[in-house]
Amino acid sequence: MFFDLGVRDFLDRAETVYPDRVAVVDEPDQPAPSWGSLTYREVARRARAQAANLDALGVPAGGRVAVVSHNAARLLVSFFGVSGWGRILVPVNFRLAAAEVKYIVEHSGAEVLIVDPELAHLLDTVTAKHVFVLGRDDEAIWGGDGTPRPWDGDESATATINYTSGTTARPKGVQLTHRNLWLNAAVFGLHTTLSDNDVLLHTLPMFHCNGWGMPYAVTGLGGRHIVLRKVDGAEILRRIDEHGVTILCAAPAVVTAALDAATTWTGEVPGRDRVRIVVAGAPPPTRTIERVRAELGWEFIQIYGLTETAPLLTVNRMRSEWAGLDPQEQARLLGRAGTPALGVRIAVDRDGEVLAQSNHNLDGYWENPAETARVQEGGWFHTGDGGSFDDGYLTIADRKKDVIISGGENVSSIEVEDALNSHPAIREAAVIGTPDEKWGELVTALVVVEGEVTAEELIRHCRGYLAGYKCPKRVEFLDELPRTATGKIQKFKLREPFWRGQSRQVN
Ligand code: AMP
Repeated sequence: MFFDLGVRDFLDRAETVYPDRVAVVDEPDQPAPSWGSLTYREVARRARAQAANLDALGVPAGGRVAVVSHNAARLLVSFFGVSGWGRILVPVNFRLAAAEVKYIVEHSGAEVLIVDPELAHLLDTVTAKHVFVLGRDDEAIWGGDGTPRPWDGDESATATINYTSGTTARPKGVQLTHRNLWLNAAVFGLHTTLSDNDVLLHTLPMFHCNGWGMPYAVTGLGGRHIVLRKVDGAEILRRIDEHGVTILCAAPAVVTAALDAATTWTGEVPGRDRVRIVVAGAPPPTRTIERVRAELGWEFIQIYGLTETAPLLTVNRMRSEWAGLDPQEQARLLGRAGTPALGVRIAVDRDGEVLAQSNHNLDGYWENPAETARVQEGGWFHTGDGGSFDDGYLTIADRKKDVIISGGENVSSIEVEDALNSHPAIREAAVIGTPDEKWGELVTALVVVEGEVTAEELIRHCRGYLAGYKCPKRVEFLDELPRTATGKIQKFKLREPFWRGQSRQVN
């Protein structure tokens, strides 16, 4: 017997088994009216209504629906209301500048564009055949009790396109199929021992690789979603306390925010011996891991992966063999990226690049066959990360690709260099990541200029083109940039003074 795997399976099960359970507690403090608490019955009803309304608009299966939103119950429902009946959800990073959102909406060919009220200004620049604002247009999106046209399901159909900044000047659209998302969510749930008792705090942006797949996994098991719109350490602790949170996923910068908030928290830090925190995006410092376990009393789990791999590739979780070791040594062992997740094969090629095979690696980049072929050469996905794979454990040590990771989000050096180069005073510019305690890596521009220009002016200029987090935080003026005989800028030379003394070349 063969059934196509589909993201609607997760919602169907929740509705069948747990119709009256609270599925999601929406963010109370947001510009659109909060949806409060919704049961799985209600989530399923709204997802069906959304699909039926898309039918009525004439959006066909395979049609793209872009949503630019902070974390919200409305976005969570759209994971099912859009993809569940064969359309393709394009969740867009809400921090992007208007020009960047415009590129993504046009490149993906989205027929429908839905934006958060705080981002309504985007509609001055970006448009689509059908445009909606969350809250204001809820009736058009989720109104009615419509029954959607049946969709037969096809596990190899694209369910989401997630744009990610990488090695090209423009973001690439990662096409993830129903099969990719299903298997990633199931394997992720297995390795984090997810159950119907779990309460997930959405500390990770849902747009970022579909919240790593947790929106599907938690729904399928009948767990509860607690929506968090803005990351704030004290608020994270407060919600963990209020909602009995058991699991959260975060980049190292969010972990630091929670640790900082805990130092001024009165009384016992909430979640001790209950919460597990799943961390990825950058290698967390060993000291941070030790502090999470000692000061917060939360279980620390590290995963490694990319948007292109849905994302789960490796997982590192405390194992019984380490029980007798001292906490420092345990933290060091947990500091590695981890072991291949079930069904994932990891290898390191001769140049030290990490390669992966799995059933949740991307189908391809949307309308970009050249990049698709490049990253899948030889039947392996090329991660662009450098590392070693010993005794079943992967360690990430450096990055082969020209990407900076700041606060868990990818920044393409080329994109920032393009923005800088469009300033008339720039003769040449190179952008690198430099180690930073708070953000992991800081976007740093090294420039050669003609005439008078200040760092502030250059940063302001970049803001016209790029999201704030991509703009240089540090600008250094040089007389010239080091180049090879063939004229290529030698970034390793530029990086050297900043990274001297660091044990690894990513942070
Ligand atoms: P993204 O596609 O935006 O999720 O970014 C993926 C990139 O984040 C990877 O290629 C790595 O460079 C980095 N990354 C993710 N998880 C880890 C980790 N546990 N350790 C080191 N780097 C990581």
